[in-house]
Amino acid sequence: MLWQGRRESDNVEDERGSGGGGRIVMGGGIGTVILVVLYLLLGGNPQALFNSQDSAQLPQQHGQYQNQAPRDEASKFVAVVLADTEDAWHSIFQQMGREYQEPRLVLFTDLTQSGCGFARGATGPFYCPEDQRVYIDLGFFRLLQQRLGAGGDFAEAYVIAHEVGHHVQNLLGITDRMQAARGRVSEAEYNRLSVKLELQADFLAGVWARYADRVKHVVEAGDIEEAMRAASAVGDDRLQSRSRGYVVPDSFTHGTSEQRLRWFRRGYETGDLRQGDTFNAAEL
Ligand SMILES: [Zn+2]
Repeated sequence: MLWQGRRESDNVEDERGSGGGGRIVMGGGIGTVILVVLYLLLGGNPQALFNSQDSAQLPQQHGQYQNQAPRDEASKFVAVVLADTEDAWHSIFQQMGREYQEPRLVLFTDLTQSGCGFARGATGPFYCPEDQRVYIDLGFFRLLQQRLGAGGDFAEAYVIAHEVGHHVQNLLGITDRMQAARGRVSEAEYNRLSVKLELQADFLAGVWARYADRVKHVVEAGDIEEAMRAASAVGDDRLQSRSRGYVVPDSFTHGTSEQRLRWFRRGYETGDLRQGDTFNAAEL
């Protein structure tokens, strides 16, 4: 993938080396004062901050670690890919007559607190709809390369694009419909819905890959195969057959390698959101 020297997204929050739990310690007293000042400096509405002050899981608190760590190659790469997803989805949403709201992306090591609860690096990358953030421990990319045999920059880009795909589903109201189904349907049925959600995120990653290829011209020979290898390497069946230090959240509900590959490819080949309705597809 051609990525050096290209636009980096401003939406990356680098928490690596901050110890993760730091935000909880900062939750009261002088920490709160600093937080409020920072928040105001960043142009925030103070009312919004105080309205949610009762919660220790303030999404606003993320900002304080932003750009603290020196920008290394890995975080630059993530920021470039995130910027590519922003451009792609702004354009696609515009075509639908809608406005795309960019997600934030948190880089962390080992442990962090998200709007969806605590996350360990061991849970793998995930998207939290509550705070509209993608969480990535870069250690997962090493795992992808060393243990799953699916390394390479475009493989990593696919993982980011998949998580951003979950954000797109959130903006389109699909995540809400899933949440509403929870508790109303049997666990088996809910798992089936989860697979459809995951395969659709793969489809959306494919739509992004097409944009990166056809509009940005940043896809190099072998890149698409790299992403497909990654999609296939993180299928439930593959993951379950390995002893591993990491699990993908809901790892039992992501679909098989073959399914993930197929939906990614369909997104890449069509670039047409109407082709990605995994919920009503005759065959997954
Ligand atoms: Zn997913």
